Amino acid sequence: MIGSPEIGKIIEKYDQNKIAIGTLGSHSSLNIFKGAKEEGFRTVCICKEKDAIMYQKYPLVDELIIVKDFTELLNEKLQERLRKLNVVLIPHGSFTAYLSTEELTDSLMVPMFGNRQLLKWEANRKSQEDWLRQAGLKLPATLKTPEDIDRLIIAKLQGAKGGRGYFLANSSENFYKQFNEMVKRGMLTQDDLLCIHLQEYALGVNVYPSYFSSIINDDVEMLCIDRRYESAVDSIGKIPACQQLEIDINPTYTVVGNFPIVLRESLLPEIMRMGENVHKKARELSPPGIIGPFCLETVITDDLKIFTFEISARIVAGTNVGIGTSPYAYLKYGANMYMGRRIAMEFKDAIKKKRLQDIVA
Ligand code: AMP
Ligand code: AMP
Repeated sequence: MIGSPEIGKIIEKYDQNKIAIGTLGSHSSLNIFKGAKEEGFRTVCICKEKDAIMYQKYPLVDELIIVKDFTELLNEKLQERLRKLNVVLIPHGSFTAYLSTEELTDSLMVPMFGNRQLLKWEANRKSQEDWLRQAGLKLPATLKTPEDIDRLIIAKLQGAKGGRGYFLANSSENFYKQFNEMVKRGMLTQDDLLCIHLQEYALGVNVYPSYFSSIINDDVEMLCIDRRYESAVDSIGKIPACQQLEIDINPTYTVVGNFPIVLRESLLPEIMRMGENVHKKARELSPPGIIGPFCLETVITDDLKIFTFEISARIVAGTNVGIGTSPYAYLKYGANMYMGRRIAMEFKDAIKKKRLQDIVA
């Protein structure tokens, strides 16, 4: 695993007046690049040819590096080029979707914003659950085997991309029937049965608060809240119930976009405390804890209980709803603050205080 000493040596060689903010061209990169430009940084985008149109249409990128595949980021030549450009990478969902945790922790010799050690806690469902439970959060119950299913559950694949391959079941018979159907449709394979995660389904609405943990200010801020727009589950209500039964549809959860939300104000104190506690626990597990953005994926039930079913210890694409201004960023900073800009602001503060090495790994 690449540690702070190796990355520290690279950072020492960087020209602190010419730090460039770089990321893969996808997910939340427009958000990140806009923030970086507004705070006066140069930007470097590693993207696929077919996506380059985005960075030609929006004038946010100073250096466009075209790759065939995001795994080229592991290529030593490309890494050397990024180091020469004084790049610090901002990881987002496409890093974890297209590169393995091991590749990110062991083969990426370019400074990255955040705490690399935490990637391991996040990648494994069991350790992630331990982290969240120890932070005092409420989690939906986990069931060991399909034979234990005695209530409505959601079956999840390890590392599923955007909920693809998830399904609901309320008995073991029903579970196997649906599992086999998903295999037939090519959405799962028989081997998935070994690593499928069975979680109690929390009936309620989805709420995804995004936080920013500032190492420089020693504070956790809550900057925006979103919910997702998912296909096909969000379209099922358009079909009359009798036809739903006849065509026997399986809801799937492929994310296609996000909506901003503001929460009932009496829910906010707990949302704030949850963010603080998750960071505090992370500081014990892997100092200095979470560096920068993170998001809790929650369901709020009708008795106003907040269940957390996942954490992303990095910027989530839901923060794109706040590009420009989100209500919660506005409350703290006034207009024109959002996750991409908040990240760049942290870099500016760190450089000013000669603490850049404290926010990269
Ligand atoms: P992509 O580069 O679009 O394939 O996204 C990489 C990962 O981030 C995938 O696992 C997506 O499911 C997730 N992702 C992308 N966009 C969003 C979004 N708007 N909201 C939530 N997750 C997203
Ligand atoms: P994910 O890709 O893990 O963010 O989840 C995809 C979808 O599954 C989201 O719409 C979540 O609301 C839903 N989901 C995941 N876990 C649960 C749960 N335990 N209870 C209710 N809904 C869940």
